[in-house]
Order: sequence, then structure tokens, then C-alpha cells
Amino acid sequence: MKKKELERLRKKLLKKKEEILSKLEEIGKETSEEGESLIEYYDKATYQFSKEYKIALGQKDAEILRQIERALQKMREGTYGICEDCGKPIPPKRLTAVPWAIYCIECAEKHEMEKESEAEEDENYY
Ligand SMILES: [Zn+2]
Repeated sequence: MKKKELERLRKKLLKKKEEILSKLEEIGKETSEEGESLIEYYDKATYQFSKEYKIALGQKDAEILRQIERALQKMREGTYGICEDCGKPIPPKRLTAVPWAIYCIECAEKHEMEKESEAEEDENYY
């Protein structure tokens, strides 16, 4: 991938990250009675959230934020744009639409399906 293109996507990632984080702060202000920011419950070392946090933010944004951090890390390592599963390059079109994609479309769909079947198994179990 060209350096210029990479830089453009990096900016997009950072912008999206800002968006989610500012949303988090808003939620923090609303939900925290003591006035402490929920942002503190975000573990920067592991990119993990506390459970309460995930509920407040919504699973989807929390997941996107995790993927953004991962994509940024990959950019630093020079492995950005390569599918984590099959090792093939992720089509630039997909990266433009979803800059935090870590899987190619086929593998992403595969993972989606796995997730769904896992959820079903959980339901059956309980
Ligand atoms: Zn793949």
C-alpha cells in the first residue's frame, strides 16, 4: 500500500476513534454521579473495557474501537491491510469503507457466522 494512502486511512481511523471517545465522555458525564469520567475505565494497555462501559457504549462501538486500536498497531508494525486469518491482502475498497477491517470479506463473514452460532450455543446451554 502506498504511504500516502496509508496516511489517509490512519487519519480516518484517528478521527473515528476521537468520535467514539467523545461519545464515551458524554456517556460518562451523564451516567457518573460522582462526576468521574468513564474514560478511566478504559484500559489503554489492553484496549479492554469494563462491563458497565460496554453496556453504556454499546457493543458495536466498543468493538470498533478495539479494532481501530488494532489497526493502528498493525500500521506501526507494517502489517496493516493484510487479513489476520488467511494472510491475503484486504482489498483497498474494503479498507476505504472500513479502515479498521482486520479481515478480508470472506474471513469476516466466516467470523460473523461463528459468532452467531456461538451465541446460539449459549442460549441453548442456559
Ligand atoms: Zn481472509
